Amino acid sequence: MNDKDYIATIGLEIHAELKTSSKMFCSCKNDPDEERPNVNVCPICMGHPGTLPVLNKQAIKHVLKIGHAIGGTIADFTEWDRKNYFYPDIPKGYQISQYKYPLVSGGNLAGIDLTRIHLEEDTAQSTHDTHHKSLINFNRSSVPLMELVTEPVIHDAETAVKFAKELQLLLRYLGAGEANLEKGEMRVEANISVASLANTEAKKFGTKTEVKNLNSFKAVEKAIVFEISRQIELIENGGKVQQETRGWDENSGTTYSQRLKESSHDYRYFPEPDLPKLKISEVAEFSKEELTKETSELPWIKRERLVKDFIMTEKEVAVFVESPEVGNYFEEVVKGESEIAKLSINYILTDYLGLLKKEGKGVETISTKNFSKLMKMIEAKKLSSRGAKDAMALMVKEDGDPEIIAEKNGLIQKSDEGEIKKIVTEIVSKNPTVVTDYKNGKEAALQFFIGQGMKATKGSANPELLKKILLEVIG
Ligand code: ADP
Ligand code: ZN
Ligand code: MG
Repeated sequence: MNDKDYIATIGLEIHAELKTSSKMFCSCKNDPDEERPNVNVCPICMGHPGTLPVLNKQAIKHVLKIGHAIGGTIADFTEWDRKNYFYPDIPKGYQISQYKYPLVSGGNLAGIDLTRIHLEEDTAQSTHDTHHKSLINFNRSSVPLMELVTEPVIHDAETAVKFAKELQLLLRYLGAGEANLEKGEMRVEANISVASLANTEAKKFGTKTEVKNLNSFKAVEKAIVFEISRQIELIENGGKVQQETRGWDENSGTTYSQRLKESSHDYRYFPEPDLPKLKISEVAEFSKEELTKETSELPWIKRERLVKDFIMTEKEVAVFVESPEVGNYFEEVVKGESEIAKLSINYILTDYLGLLKKEGKGVETISTKNFSKLMKMIEAKKLSSRGAKDAMALMVKEDGDPEIIAEKNGLIQKSDEGEIKKIVTEIVSKNPTVVTDYKNGKEAALQFFIGQGMKATKGSANPELLKKILLEVIG
């Protein structure tokens, strides 16, 4: 048997910290960039007994917007529950989460069916093994956290990564979160199982493992690929997959057993008595109309529009959608000037972004007005592609009117027949042997003359015109 005799099944559980001014249940600042430990803390988010949590409206709105974007069903009734467990990073002895009544049910993102999205609080952050001590930082404690669960409908690592990337993009578009995996702002857990196709019960799922500590998209991909083959190999060797939580070890590129899976009854969930139950439909600010007003164009809508309006490849549109500043810049450049769209796509993606990176500058370095003008000069053949690149490099150093910059630096493409003819005649008369070579059928001789002509005009001659005049002069 080989890997083709098995089908892998993957379901994702993704946590994402939400961007809000204060934490989920208190007025402490929600600041993921705070580097000093235990600064944004109060008795509520440190779990002191007798304190009372208060719901954060902004966090609820974020989840509802996400719910609308993915076409999910918004709960009419919702409440929060206590998920009881002991751990130093959760001093209350429970995490406030949602169990029975998640804010959002169903929906679909990037072709993947979703189970639910609920809202809970993040835990504190513990750091172990610093001089045989463990440290706890409560800055993150009670930061609003959403949890999204997909149905077990993914069958390969690539699709899982694509889904996670689309979610990251959505969160960023909605202003709901930064969702950097590397910073722990978004945490992906992959549930993975394999089932033999040969088995008559092939429709049945195999036993799943849950893989954690995936701190990058690359890690998500590699961990899923590894775990699928580990499970297949185990089964092939007569073993059985254990339902367990596994960690991903970046260095060895393997997963390792962490603990046997706990099940929900271990948490003894019960409704949080200190928070109000909510009827979403009764809160005007939570209505679809109000939330839609605050929602800009969604990433997949933008993707479709750009492809349709400007005929872009998948790779091209990806840059514009994933980097909204670059996308907006492009749209501003070509606004009302669709004839320069194709040129603008090429010059932004292949030249401009590279130059900016080299100079460490932002996308607005060349004003959209000047960039647009530069494209129109290329379109009108006033600039050769060489001349355009040189002009752009100069404009990145110091923005200005491309007409003036090109003129000043002798970059305007020479289309003056008389002038080119003068230059060509001179070159030809200086190189009689090359003329003979050409007449004896040596094609390279023509290339030599074109090269000389370009050199003499510092690359500013219109190459087609140069060739035409050259042929006339040689006769
Ligand atoms: P549990 O009760 O163990 O938490 P759930 O049914 O709540 O399991 O599902 C948790 C996640 O695991 C979901 O994303 C779901 O899609 C996924 N999942 C469930 N069963 C499987 C399976 N057999 N293989 C892969 N993923 C699965
Ligand atoms: Zn607090
Ligand atoms: Mg579950």
